[in-house]
Amino acid sequence: MGARLELENVSHRYGGDAPALEDLSLAVEPGELVALLGPSGCGKTTALKIIAGLLRPSSGDVRVGGRSVVGTAPERREAAMVFQKPLLFPHMSVARNVGFGLRMRKAPRKESESKVHEALRRVRMEGFADRAPEELSGGQQQRVALARALVTDPRLLLLDEPFSALDASLREEMRGLVLRLQREGGHTTVFVTHDQEEAVVLADRIALVFDGRLQMYEEPEAFYDRPATREVARFFGATNFIEGRAGNGSVRTPLGNLRLASAAPPGDVTLTIRPEAVRLEAGENSFDALITSAAYLGTQVHYGLETSGKSLRVALPPHVRLAVGNEVTARLPAESLWALRA
Ligand code: ATP
Repeated sequence: MGARLELENVSHRYGGDAPALEDLSLAVEPGELVALLGPSGCGKTTALKIIAGLLRPSSGDVRVGGRSVVGTAPERREAAMVFQKPLLFPHMSVARNVGFGLRMRKAPRKESESKVHEALRRVRMEGFADRAPEELSGGQQQRVALARALVTDPRLLLLDEPFSALDASLREEMRGLVLRLQREGGHTTVFVTHDQEEAVVLADRIALVFDGRLQMYEEPEAFYDRPATREVARFFGATNFIEGRAGNGSVRTPLGNLRLASAAPPGDVTLTIRPEAVRLEAGENSFDALITSAAYLGTQVHYGLETSGKSLRVALPPHVRLAVGNEVTARLPAESLWALRA
């Protein structure tokens, strides 16, 4: 079973420059899968290396199962890491690669053999034990890397963009595999990714990091329904922002007085609504608008709307075809509007 992982005020500075991580605090519950999400260079790998013990933080504490591990060597942390590249030993068979950690621990041979077999079975690679890594596809190599990580039954499983080099359909299959392994093994897992969709599919909770700072740590739905800031909303694909002033149960905006189902903080606010939540119909919170652009994206069509000097984006199913230059009535459903402090 996985252990509880806590990071408390962890900061890291490589040189004299801006810190790569600043005051990162988060707790991962035993058996939970947390996605560490953020754009390239935001500090995700730095955080994972600190958890693994490959890097000592400039300040702050890391606790596993309630005990500080900052001074503990990587091999004594019972954490297993999988990297973007499989990093298998080329001169060893698949089985010997998977059994490497057990040999290091001087586990009895019979026991090792059965654990290696079991780990290969779990990643559906039991027929490949005697192959050399170079005789495997990229996806198969990454399965072996996962088996090698799982074989010692780690308390923490740390995955650093493990599928980013694979093609889209294989990536989807591997995500399914990680979810199954997670459910079966109950490992506490931290999964680093810059791919918002991957984080949403996999994670119990997402820790979103920009510039080394934690922006929001919540379950995936919250990033769509209740983003903490405009930047968070934008990272998750929200493109509509409407300035307004909240009071008396509604928000006064250039589009009229809009009612929200959720509470808005009093004073100046920015309302956000996702393109797919905008409706083309009359009713509460509706207004007339002009269609100014259309972009066909395969599964959706994105339309640009303009009204009262404001531009909005609407995403509709591809069978709805509207012409640029037409007037429509658009509605912003109260339950889909969310108010950010301006
Ligand atoms: P990516 O998704 O591109 O791998 P990341 O979010 O994992 O990025 P990190 O690799 O943690 O980001 O890097 C965070 C910051 O620290 C970056 O600005 C990077 O340039 C810097 N950095 C990383 N490693 C070192 C190092 N060894 N020496 C100096 N600076 C470093």
